[in-house]
Amino acid sequence: MQLPSPIHQIHYNGKSFFIKRDDLIDPFISGNKWRKLKYILKDAASKNKKHLVTFGGAYSNHLLATASAAAKYQLKATAFVRGEEVNNEILALCKIFGLQLHFTDRESYRNKPALFEKYYGNDDEAYFIDEGGASYEATIGCAEITNELEEHFDHIFCAAGTGTTAAGLLKGINQLGLKTQLHVVTVLKGGDFIREEIAQYEQDISKLSLHIDYHFGGYAKTNKELISFIKDFSSKTGILIDPIYTGKMFYAINDLIEKKQISKDARILAIHTGGLFGIFGKIDEFDKIS
Ligand SMILES: *Cc1c(COP(=O)(O)O)cnc(C)c1O
Repeated sequence: MQLPSPIHQIHYNGKSFFIKRDDLIDPFISGNKWRKLKYILKDAASKNKKHLVTFGGAYSNHLLATASAAAKYQLKATAFVRGEEVNNEILALCKIFGLQLHFTDRESYRNKPALFEKYYGNDDEAYFIDEGGASYEATIGCAEITNELEEHFDHIFCAAGTGTTAAGLLKGINQLGLKTQLHVVTVLKGGDFIREEIAQYEQDISKLSLHIDYHFGGYAKTNKELISFIKDFSSKTGILIDPIYTGKMFYAINDLIEKKQISKDARILAIHTGGLFGIFGKIDEFDKIS
């Protein structure tokens, strides 16, 4: 674990900003997934639970992080995977790390506590971890990102799926009394619900700006413009970003500066939440533009 993660300044198409490289924390327990798992794993250990049971889609960064973390700490791990049986790069790595996969139809997948109860209700060592690691413990881990900042930033950006990472960052900003605005780029369509998700964990949302128009059609949806942006960005900075989360966030940062909604001279920090294996789910899209 490389902690605290480094902050790198980059220059891209006449703009300059900083990136908190949480993608470098660990290759597999990457980015916000380590931040989110840290106190979940502590809680599991304190309750003597040695079998992690969690949930995710077939390209879930959370599943890979859980698989790798479980192996590292000699825990057993099982995942309910949404949809019919498939194989891909992420699931292959999960299996190498020893994660047991249960492919689950979409209907049953919806009720996660029921699945847990049905299969592991009698397993005293089983520990429920929600999809994506969403939990109060996860927000505490994500709040620690702000403790690692030694300089002032006017704006912090992050991508949001469940909003747990964003809630933790906001908690950190509020606790430390930072004069920093938190910009949350939602990657799902209709991302307004993220405001309520965040408010569940952190009541004072005065420092929150939600950007809900950078989803590119919805979760894991992309288009040529986004894919071209990612390629341009990575080829000019040497920093890989993924098409599901961080690509949409960096697109938003670039766009907001170009539209002068955010000053070019402001000090901007983007949280690189990792998740680079997401690129493998979109290889064909990258092929089309090159
Ligand atoms: C899971 C993930 C997110 C979303 O985090 P939430 O806490 O669910 O909002 C953002 N970026 C990357 C790279 C991820 O893997």
